[in-house]
Amino acid sequence: MQGNIGVTTENIFPVIKKFLYSDHEIFLREIVSNAVDATQKLKTYAGKGDFKGELGELKVSVSLDKEAGTITVSDRGIGMTADEIERYINQIAFSGANDFLDKYKDDANAIIGHFGLGFYSSFMVSKQVDIITKSYQDAPAQKWSCDGSPSYTLEETTKADRGTDIVMHIDDDCKDFLDKAKLEGLLKKYCNFMPVPVVFGKKQEWKDGSYQDTEDDNVINSTDPIWTTKPTELKDEHYKQFYQARYPMQDEPLFWIHLNVDYPFNLTGVLYFPKIKNNLDLQRNKIQLYCNQVFVTDNVENIVPEFLTLLHGVIDSPDIPLNVSRSYLQSDQNVKKISSYITKKVSDRLQSLFKQERSDFEKKWDDIKIFIHYGMLSQEDFYDKAKNYFLLKDTEGKFFTLEEYETLIKENQKNKDDQLIYLYTTDREAQYTYIQSARDKGYSVLVMDGQLDTPLVGMLERKLEKSSFTRVDSDVIDRLIQKEETKRELLDAQRSDKLSTIFRTQMPKTDKTEFHVEVQALGADSLPVMITQSEYMRRMKDMSRLQPGMAFYGEMPDMYNLVLNSDAALIKAVLDDSEAQTEESLKPIESELKGLNARQSVLRQEQDKKKPEDITQEEKDDLKACGDAISAEQEKKNAILAEYGKNNERVHQLIDLALLQNGMLRGEALTRFVRRSVELIK
Ligand code: ADP
Repeated sequence: MQGNIGVTTENIFPVIKKFLYSDHEIFLREIVSNAVDATQKLKTYAGKGDFKGELGELKVSVSLDKEAGTITVSDRGIGMTADEIERYINQIAFSGANDFLDKYKDDANAIIGHFGLGFYSSFMVSKQVDIITKSYQDAPAQKWSCDGSPSYTLEETTKADRGTDIVMHIDDDCKDFLDKAKLEGLLKKYCNFMPVPVVFGKKQEWKDGSYQDTEDDNVINSTDPIWTTKPTELKDEHYKQFYQARYPMQDEPLFWIHLNVDYPFNLTGVLYFPKIKNNLDLQRNKIQLYCNQVFVTDNVENIVPEFLTLLHGVIDSPDIPLNVSRSYLQSDQNVKKISSYITKKVSDRLQSLFKQERSDFEKKWDDIKIFIHYGMLSQEDFYDKAKNYFLLKDTEGKFFTLEEYETLIKENQKNKDDQLIYLYTTDREAQYTYIQSARDKGYSVLVMDGQLDTPLVGMLERKLEKSSFTRVDSDVIDRLIQKEETKRELLDAQRSDKLSTIFRTQMPKTDKTEFHVEVQALGADSLPVMITQSEYMRRMKDMSRLQPGMAFYGEMPDMYNLVLNSDAALIKAVLDDSEAQTEESLKPIESELKGLNARQSVLRQEQDKKKPEDITQEEKDDLKACGDAISAEQEKKNAILAEYGKNNERVHQLIDLALLQNGMLRGEALTRFVRRSVELIK
């Protein structure tokens, strides 16, 4: 018998061939899963008593004949009668085919799914396909053959056994599929967990100098992967073994979540929290999506919430519309439900781990925090759940929930405006002194050294009421948490100015760093010199590294404060000595300045009384000349103080110590410091 395949669009085959080029390999998935389906159906019929014959060994065999240039997929399933071939193979019913093809011509999955073209995908790689089939019902075997044109032949044939052979005569330009290793690789990829054994030749062993076939079938798949087993029947070992087999290069997973729902959608799977050793481990294609144990994709974007795409594992759902475009997935209601179900399951699991095994949870915290931080930052509803088990860690390694921590610090760490100040360090070693002085004051310091802690701090400040975060080195201890004004004797402006000038003029001049020098009365016990960096500026710079569009802050120099403690004996000594040394040379300048300043304020007062338009040019010039003279005198004064600073080893030693404490003393400056120190202790 001959006929035409009932395709309304005559050119369906060229389309299949041409446009589906990139996804060629899925023909194998389609043909093998048809064979698996036919086998499963037979089992079902047998179960219901509709098939009374011998089932025998049920497997799907894939074989390769290099000489004939064919790949054959054989099953012992239900087979087809002539009538069924007519209905299921010959009449491909579809409507609006042209429109659809136009729209999805680059998306092989969409086309194949839309048309139910599973079987026809074999023509992507074949110049001819034969179906040799014998139904489980009592009917003559059939051979159907088609060379890729819309005409086919169908004739009776002889076939000993029940079932179907699909023989694909591979096209000349697709010969690479006839490579044994390539074919086996593809079978592993797509059929790894299919529910019926898929056999590809025989297992081989090394014998007499070459690989030789053994008696045993080379079974590609494992038919009962753990996600198809009830969680109650599985032990930790099973989960670990499954993980090991899938991800042999990874450390043992931290824990896992077994997904298992059948209403309102079907979803099973196991998600693992991997142990992340470095950023290279953060990959997004480690979750595989299956549909009834048939591999579909390892791109689960849109199905799994974004922050969980960093997990490893498998999910299996027949309810995810696999054959639609990716962008369509986003708006699909089922997919949305699946995504929020997964979020909820993950969150429930974390919550119960936290509740039931808190110490274990704490031990794992440093490894899992990246996932939790990411989730909290990217998904509002996850934050709401996670805030109950989200942990803060202090410098002693103790863990607290947000609530516990607030209770801990609320007595001692509120500032005068009733703001609760959370102190934190990003580097326990580098910021050691600052941490120490905060702890001496009875403050608690958090460790925030994770990759996502910068944005996290910002988020927590928005979420927590009347709270702010301050890095422990962002100010001197008294101002870190500003309580009622501390009353200490301050230096008068003149002396304070002199002191800062001496130090300012000696600060190292580097490209991207600027120092602002200030004098503070910090108490006789505090260090004489400290470096701090304002929380705000530092955070802007940190953020600029993470976010495009903030480059402005990134370009700015790092700005630090050099704080001189006027209560410290050493600073007092520098000031006293400098005054003694420079008194002579400064005296005339200072008396000159005194006169100039007095004159300037008189001139200003006079001009303030007048309307701007009544001020004469002469008066303006006068004031300007006075200002210029002051600047000139000031410069002379600064030069004298700078000269003093330059020759004063104590000043340099103090500056260098402060730099050293912040890891900022490097290169030549460090060498000079070491030399000077050696001299000093000689
Ligand atoms: P789908 O599998 O999506 O229905 P296909 O084009 O892959 O679409 O297959 C069409 C039909 O052909 C199947 O539904 C099935 O009835 C029949 N069929 C395909 N392959 C086999 C097979 N190996 N054994 C029995 N029937 C088959």
